[in-house]
Amino acid sequence: MFKLLKTNNYARRGVLTTPHGIIETPFFMNVGTCAAIKGGISSIDLQELKCQIELCNTYHLHLRPSSEVIRDCGGLHKFMNWNKPILTDSGGFQVFSLATLRKITEDGVHFASHIDGRRLFIGPEESMQIQYNLGADMIMAFDECIENPSPYEYVEKSCERTTRWLERCITEVEKLENIKKSQKTTSNIDETELLKMQTKTALFGINQGGTYPDLRIKHMQDIVKLNLPGYAIGGLAVGESMDDMYRIIETVTPYMPKDKPRYLMGVGTPSNIIESVARGIDMFDCVMPSRNARHGTVFTWSGILHLKNECYTRDCLPLDENCSCPTCKNHTRAYIRHLFKSNEQLAGRLAVMHNLYFYNELMEKIRENIENDTFSDFREKYSELLSRKIAGR
Ligand SMILES: [Zn+2]
Repeated sequence: MFKLLKTNNYARRGVLTTPHGIIETPFFMNVGTCAAIKGGISSIDLQELKCQIELCNTYHLHLRPSSEVIRDCGGLHKFMNWNKPILTDSGGFQVFSLATLRKITEDGVHFASHIDGRRLFIGPEESMQIQYNLGADMIMAFDECIENPSPYEYVEKSCERTTRWLERCITEVEKLENIKKSQKTTSNIDETELLKMQTKTALFGINQGGTYPDLRIKHMQDIVKLNLPGYAIGGLAVGESMDDMYRIIETVTPYMPKDKPRYLMGVGTPSNIIESVARGIDMFDCVMPSRNARHGTVFTWSGILHLKNECYTRDCLPLDENCSCPTCKNHTRAYIRHLFKSNEQLAGRLAVMHNLYFYNELMEKIRENIENDTFSDFREKYSELLSRKIAGR
């Protein structure tokens, strides 16, 4: 599934083969929470934004419209009309961050929907069943995402349970794979799509352990023994400092298999991505580019630009003079600023398109620089610069 092509110090350049095509690594997953990228971006737009893969959220889609509805409409690829790779998360993170009245037991988690208060339950088996109904190329194990800081004893017990949950995920996946193989055809799925769906779904294990190095290492060793197609580092960017985050990445990556993709969940800023690639990470996802864009904050190759600032009122330059995204090719800062000030929906859409293109292009440049053995120069030039705010009133 994963082929490592080249390394540049700890930075890795590779390819990941999925039923819906090849992904060049390292890469960023564009987050379509409810099967759509917030800001009015469709799968048609994504074709123009250098997007290689979309991530969708199990928790949200389970609540609405339900994974059964998506399954009956031919799966998530057909539902969104997105024929490239998709990864779904396990629902765990949202159960712990969004849902209320939460009760964790050995079986799983009882919770109330944040939409209508409906009482629901998700355990490892349910999470796998939902993700199989959605039909993603890569799926995530059901785990407990602990907030930082948490007491040592709690984190230790939680990691042990997360390992037991992972073992149950693996057993359930085997069952679901057998069911999938026995499916001949259904009315909504054509044969090529069915063939793709019948290729084995890749289940990723997730490392937890809070900010405790010994628990992180022990948990990584335990889950690596289960020989999964990929591994993720979870429970970071949830309250700890940036230094702690980098320290944990450096602590666990030596225990991750070299021949499997490494995914740092929910991270981050362009600088976080550059710094994590430098520490051996291949996969990223974050709502930051779309969320910030919807509030008028855009990433550029000269730093972070707050479009609502007064100084852009008559600024007829594109958001970034070095950007070839559909927004920068067609519109000015003055125009998009005006749209924000007038609460036009187009403002968010244009800004999100730019930010996603920027992130996807950032990954493309990271890959080129690893290939050319120039990644350390690239890191030195951009790591700090891309997080710097452009002065403007
Ligand atoms: Zn642009």
